[in-house]
Amino acid sequence: MSVKVYVDGNFVPKEEACVSVFDHGFLYGDGVFEGIRAYSGKVFKLEEHVRRLYDSGKAIMLTVPMSEKEMADKINETVKLNSLKDAYIRVVVSRGKGDLGLDPRKCPKPSVIIIADTIQLYPKELYDKGLEIITGATNRIPNECLSPRIKSLNYLNNIMAKIEGINAGVVEVLMLNQNGYISECTGDNIFCVRDGKLMTPSECSGILLGITRATVMELARKQGIDVVETNLNRYDLYVADEVFLTGTAAEIIGVTKIDGRVIGDGRPGKVTKQLKAAFDKYVRA
Ligand code: PMP
Repeated sequence: MSVKVYVDGNFVPKEEACVSVFDHGFLYGDGVFEGIRAYSGKVFKLEEHVRRLYDSGKAIMLTVPMSEKEMADKINETVKLNSLKDAYIRVVVSRGKGDLGLDPRKCPKPSVIIIADTIQLYPKELYDKGLEIITGATNRIPNECLSPRIKSLNYLNNIMAKIEGINAGVVEVLMLNQNGYISECTGDNIFCVRDGKLMTPSECSGILLGITRATVMELARKQGIDVVETNLNRYDLYVADEVFLTGTAAEIIGVTKIDGRVIGDGRPGKVTKQLKAAFDKYVRA
């Protein structure tokens, strides 16, 4: 059965799902999006994702042309229609069709797209072994220029860092902020563990406030683990007992080498494994 994609009010076969070349999402990256998962037929943290989508839209003065409830219902419907139990869902709201200028007022109707498919970001071996990452020379865009809290269609900043990783033969890249502190990776948030304490860059470090990040912090606190949101630098990661990444697609994955330094004993650590087990249980509860 062909995948059915929601495009502006209709479900169309994947092969026919398209937007105009005059859409400002295409011309300028003018739009917002979400990546969401469904586990065992239930969309995970749907309300939180829809909220973040609408907040991103609000921040760029893009009004999503349906209510949050309607959006949540459409997302559920897209997953059901495609008979998916475990799915990766991409919701895109772009500025819509306009002319060749930047002016968003020339785009009267935002485009809404919902795709439900499957995903495996990293092979299973990498979850067992852990990732090697490097620090990129490309810094995260500062809050003052474009808040990283906006999940916009403009991912070129992250892609520039990703390309550095590809050139260096690693799959993820650590991005610093303009002050030299750790922000996040190109598509994931980052955590480290030292002496049993869990630490992660704070909101002010210039990060996307990840929904997986929030879930992991909640699960850690429930297990009595201290969680601190703070400024971290590369030194903190190099000397950490454990480092791991979180994201909707990646879920929780250990990092075992950064800039050539072996982290901990070079394998995904105890707290990482403990939180991953709690996360796997939680998403299917
Ligand atoms: N940071 C960036 C830059 C991301 O693109 C993402 C999502 N892929 C994350 C962090 C993780 O956010 P979430 O847990 O909400 O998927």
